[in-house]
Amino acid sequence: MTKLEINKPKFGELTQIATDLYWAHFELPFRLNHVNLFLMDTPKGFLILDAGLKSDHSEEHWKALINGPLKSKKFAGLLITHYHPDHIGMAGWLQNKLNIKCYTSEKELFTAKTFRSMPDDKYADIFRNVFVRAGMSEEDIIAKGPATRLYKNRVYELPEFEIIKSGHEIESNDGNWLVRTDSGHSPEHISLLDKKRQLYLSGDFLLPRISPNISDNFFDPLDDRLGGYFKYLNQIQVIGSDTKVFPCHDWPFIDGSKRAQDLIKHHNHRLSLILNELENRSITIMDSIEIIFDRKIGDEQMHFAIGEARAHLIHLDVTGKAKSETDDRGTVHYSCL
Ligand SMILES: [Zn+2]
Repeated sequence: MTKLEINKPKFGELTQIATDLYWAHFELPFRLNHVNLFLMDTPKGFLILDAGLKSDHSEEHWKALINGPLKSKKFAGLLITHYHPDHIGMAGWLQNKLNIKCYTSEKELFTAKTFRSMPDDKYADIFRNVFVRAGMSEEDIIAKGPATRLYKNRVYELPEFEIIKSGHEIESNDGNWLVRTDSGHSPEHISLLDKKRQLYLSGDFLLPRISPNISDNFFDPLDDRLGGYFKYLNQIQVIGSDTKVFPCHDWPFIDGSKRAQDLIKHHNHRLSLILNELENRSITIMDSIEIIFDRKIGDEQMHFAIGEARAHLIHLDVTGKAKSETDDRGTVHYSCL
């Protein structure tokens, strides 16, 4: 991708990326070590786009911004792109601090609320079911289980939210942003396009280097998230090659259409690797991880890998290219038709 030569903002600073748009860069204590947050200057004040992970670092960073470049500014609200902790984690804290209205989509809110209020043992059960369904051995479940961190440890108690829908328009000082919602990386992820000025806030759906993880739907085992992502990638190509894309991870770039095409190819390649294997044998989700990933998956990454692998198998299943059968233990086996 063609990187835009814009210096990333330092701690406590904002980088201006359009006349009415600002970028903040927050550190994360993970392999993916940062998240980009944005602020839009609107006639009603600053609209904050994503809140960051619940952490001491985020709290200090927000305090530095609020007492620094945002000092005595008016706020229009907080809009959350999706339920993942690195985006929604500080929403409750920010709402408390700034007394602002919070917005997100219906399915993102449902997922966040469900995980945030879930008792610890139920949370552990859900992950156990994911591992069993994937075909992980009992020994591995015991060994890898603790790597799954609790959602509530990384997300402040959630504030009230107002629901925002696809097609909604947000007016900023110098532009007009169309809200779109898509399924793939999360159930109803929000991204914002200012078509006229060719600016796109892509959230976690279009990143310049990383292929966004297609995550598991814990509540609907047949939800074709990869199908949703293909739909998004096909549609988003209308942004063309000149639109400046501001993603929530990595750096701003252009050539978003090309990136979308590359991601379609990437997922189709994974589907073909699985289909080739299915010609020889029936496989579980754990088997498919070795087929589609060319690197060893660490315990921390295992549930992401399972979600990703499973999304490909579900896509083959619901589009009639493979079939599935669940055994007595609860493990799903996929085979060719
Ligand atoms: Zn995410």
